[in-house]
Amino acid sequence: MTTKPNILLIYTGGTIGMVKDYKTNALKAFDFSQIVNKIPELQQLNCTIESISFDAPIDSSNMNTNYYLTIAEIIEDNYNAYDGFVVLTGSDTMSFTASAISFMLENLQKPVIFTGSQLPIGDLRTDAKENLITSIEIACAYKNGSPIIKEVGLYFEYKLYRANRTTKISSEQFEAFASLNFPPLAESGVHLKFNEHLVHHPKDDNKKLIVRKKLVTDVVILKLFPGISNEVVASILAISNLKGVILETYGSGNAPNAKPFIKLLKAAIDKGIKIVNVTQCKSGSVLMGHYDTSLLLKEIGVINGLDITTESAIAKLMYLLNEPLSLEDFTHFFEKPLRGEMTLK
Ligand code: ASP
Repeated sequence: MTTKPNILLIYTGGTIGMVKDYKTNALKAFDFSQIVNKIPELQQLNCTIESISFDAPIDSSNMNTNYYLTIAEIIEDNYNAYDGFVVLTGSDTMSFTASAISFMLENLQKPVIFTGSQLPIGDLRTDAKENLITSIEIACAYKNGSPIIKEVGLYFEYKLYRANRTTKISSEQFEAFASLNFPPLAESGVHLKFNEHLVHHPKDDNKKLIVRKKLVTDVVILKLFPGISNEVVASILAISNLKGVILETYGSGNAPNAKPFIKLLKAAIDKGIKIVNVTQCKSGSVLMGHYDTSLLLKEIGVINGLDITTESAIAKLMYLLNEPLSLEDFTHFFEKPLRGEMTLK
């Protein structure tokens, strides 16, 4: 790279771009084109920064798949003109959004870094400045003429994670995210240290970006709890048009082995509904067949989510359901890492 990297900031909403209205005490979005004025330190970075903002920035609780598409298309439309992208969203649903974007962008060769903050940018004790400045620094980090990060990352509180490995773990700590099944891709201290052996290295640098735009939203997350009734399970599985279920199970993928419950799942699978087993535990993996209580799930065709997060699993489900795959092929694609989102045992 001979010239300075060109970074596009995409502001979708969230606390990071808000300021306090001192009259009402409520947070409101500010004009994001003024970002460099709000954070003059950005001028010290060795890159050029341009920004684009949603016309009406959203609280990330209002995030949906149409907005996923908007983000993916902004990246697609600007892919050749920029060297890296920093996407600012609210932290509440950031892991869902960033996971989905990781599946939507196939053959990504440039950094796409999601970040946000717990406190607004104008707040005295804000975490927004550090998160934003370091995210941009990461997006413009090059080695041997090529970006170090060529995947979708999530940067928060001194750590860069693979986005589709993350979960929001705190509503008030600055350390709001964790990636409990995969180590950070980079850590920011006195030095910005990349764990280069962990970052994604595309096999073929010349592959063109493909943006997968169709996501199927006829899906549900069904979290088990002791006492869940068969009526509840049956009515969820009877939702018309339902195509996929993330079944949040106990421990290493265990569920009740009572016949009526298993029969309900089996009937749903026979109807063509794909059911994926994801553990409720924040770390560790599903190991179907390890206990008697997961053996039957395996036998009736429940798909093994291994160590994927629920956020990533629901995104992968929406993405893969778009293809008319048999249960066997669907299982084959779901049970292998497509964007580094799971670990094969
Ligand atoms: N409620 C906000 C949002 O997710 C919180 C944040 O920005 O972190 O949009």
